[in-house]
Amino acid sequence: MARLVIVSNRVASPKERGAKAGGLAVALREALNKRGGVWFGWSGETQVDPPAEPKIFRSGKVTYALQTLDPEDQRDHYAGYANGTLWPLCHYRLGLLNFRRTEWEGYRRVNATFARALMPLLKPDDIVWVHDYHFIPLASELRALGFEGRIGYFHHIPWPTPEVFLTLPSHAALVRDLSRYDLVGLQTEHDVRALLTYVSSEARGWIAPGGVVGLRDRRFRVATYPIGIDADAFVRDAQAAAGSEDEERLEASLAGRALAVGVDRLDYSKGLPNKFAAFGELLKSHPERRSTVTMMQIAPFSRGEVAEYRALRRELEELAGSINGEYAEFDWVPLRYLNRPFQRATLAAIYRTARLGVVTPLRDGMNLVAKEYVAAQNPEDPGVLVLSRFAGAADELSGSVIVNPYDVEGMADALDTALSMPLDERRDRWRANMDKVARNTIHRWCESFLHDLSGVDDYGADVEPV
Ligand code: ADP
Repeated sequence: MARLVIVSNRVASPKERGAKAGGLAVALREALNKRGGVWFGWSGETQVDPPAEPKIFRSGKVTYALQTLDPEDQRDHYAGYANGTLWPLCHYRLGLLNFRRTEWEGYRRVNATFARALMPLLKPDDIVWVHDYHFIPLASELRALGFEGRIGYFHHIPWPTPEVFLTLPSHAALVRDLSRYDLVGLQTEHDVRALLTYVSSEARGWIAPGGVVGLRDRRFRVATYPIGIDADAFVRDAQAAAGSEDEERLEASLAGRALAVGVDRLDYSKGLPNKFAAFGELLKSHPERRSTVTMMQIAPFSRGEVAEYRALRRELEELAGSINGEYAEFDWVPLRYLNRPFQRATLAAIYRTARLGVVTPLRDGMNLVAKEYVAAQNPEDPGVLVLSRFAGAADELSGSVIVNPYDVEGMADALDTALSMPLDERRDRWRANMDKVARNTIHRWCESFLHDLSGVDDYGADVEPV
């Protein structure tokens, strides 16, 4: 079996184990331990004139290689082009899109730096798997340095439709960069269609069956790999949460009221102001719900170096304050708003206690919280997932109450319906969702991407345009 090389911006420390490590980190580490290999990424540090070679250490069969960046390069790359340009673009937020040539150049410079640092660690028959929008040009840079082995790319966030993608001044260069991979994985069929439509209508490429794409002299494949969670681990955590001290404290604090829970990074793609407004609207237009339901929104701060995230933080503090100021009773606070991370076991207890999971992003590649909420439910008395149609997860989780997050009054009505849903219907919907969560796990996702990447040939002479 070929050695595996993983590239991602942040590299999970081998010390993060068990409840602390995220599902993705655990699955990637498992794949690396099975095949042996390298996990390469940013060290999290900046330094003027950083060393050209990464810091290297080994743990088991895995070599960790961490590259330090020049502070200006890192700013242009991370807060600049990756999170100030590509993130809003891919989440359909053109009003928030900033494009600056210096940042685009910084983004490319960092990718070139990473490729130069990684190249000496590569063996000719390694399989390289690059993760996410920070590194779209990495394959181009590795090819320019002479690497001819297999390189795959997985895009964790949505791929925008051509009308949106064309607003990016560097759209053509970015898709040329994608064509230097052998396999490009996206979350949903919708995303695949969006990219293929761009290729055929704007880039004058051709598409053959199986998602094989021809662009100039290059052949590569585009396919859907919906990411999942470690369902068994979540079910175990949730079962362990039953009767735990966390669960008892939470139940006691609710005093018999229903709980609606949201767990999202504080990010403008997550639709948090709309969610807060919908909860406010529920209390306004369904006054009989007052004092019977508590909403808990967990939203740890994220990307504070980007101005839009600081503005969102202020907006949410104001909205939460105004909902609580308007509707709170001396023994009931309608909205509990928490800005800190929690251990997975505590999250599992919160999910399991919550009658509603409220996941209403304006746009999301997949949304793993939706899947975690489903996995954590008690099968005998499951809660209801209220889910945005614009989350990738909505393709699979058809047992959810599907909402349009731009329709605040519609969402308030959906919350009301979900709160009154009879047990039989809750069980049927949960079963449909849980079947998908249990089948499409993070392990399956990882294996199927690597299986396809290992199997690709050079899509040579036998593949013809249709
Ligand atoms: P994104 O990757 O955009 O942040 P996802 O919903 O796909 O969104 O994944 C978020 C992950 O982060 C989930 O696994 C979730 O459990 C975890 N997470 C989010 N908020 C917290 C928190 N406050 N404490 C611990 N984990 C959290």
